[in-house]
Amino acid sequence: MLLLVLCGCTGFHPLHRPAKNGSGTGGADASEATASAPAAEKVWRPQWQTIGQSRQGRPLRITRLGRGPRRVLWVGGIHGNEREGRISTAELPRALLATPAAVEQVTLTILEDVNPDGTAQNTRGNAHGVDLNRNYPASNFKPSRLFGLRPLDQPEAKALHDLILDEKPHLVIVAHSWHDDHFINFDGPSEHLAERFSKLSGYRVKPSDAISPTPGSLGSWVGGTLGIPILTLEYHRGREVWAAWRETKAAILAVVLAG
Ligand SMILES: [Zn+2]
Repeated sequence: MLLLVLCGCTGFHPLHRPAKNGSGTGGADASEATASAPAAEKVWRPQWQTIGQSRQGRPLRITRLGRGPRRVLWVGGIHGNEREGRISTAELPRALLATPAAVEQVTLTILEDVNPDGTAQNTRGNAHGVDLNRNYPASNFKPSRLFGLRPLDQPEAKALHDLILDEKPHLVIVAHSWHDDHFINFDGPSEHLAERFSKLSGYRVKPSDAISPTPGSLGSWVGGTLGIPILTLEYHRGREVWAAWRETKAAILAVVLAG
């Protein structure tokens, strides 16, 4: 039932395994994906909560696990043509549950995809062509047709903004992909977390000043304005999604748990 609902809404389910050529999202469904999981990991099923709607009416959904004092928000996607982190998004809960005592340390909130319209159409922006990673009330916001005329004038960005203010996370991690590289970027007081991530994954740390300016970005607002640590995880564009997860799993768990 859950699988049908998800596919009907977005045309994508994060628990789909890749097709044999590594590029598709078909193949085994969620029940098959859990069939080989250890018994303790089978218990958890996501309880989805809708926090808003996209321009085209798709739900923006979160799920939570853990009951620890450290609050971490994982954003599975913000640019619709960057889905290399989708298996990381799907697998992270089971990996956390398999880590001893993790659920006592952390409350993890997963926002599956803040741009389901872009994902459905394989576009960077949302259904209005706005880049949802440039629409936040940071001091460097630049009004434009591509970034939005005002901060938070896109419903998806507003929903994520409100979620962050409500949750007051200790860390935000956002999955992206980069056209010719992979790396970990950070904003706010999170250089030590980026370094730790780098050591465990081999992804080098790339500071924001080494990247083209990103006015109004989520990193600028969360890290710069709010002072909340935020890591921007850039997978290599086109990286096979299970490989992307395997090479970053230990690093992701380490920064999620790092208090
Ligand atoms: Zn991106």
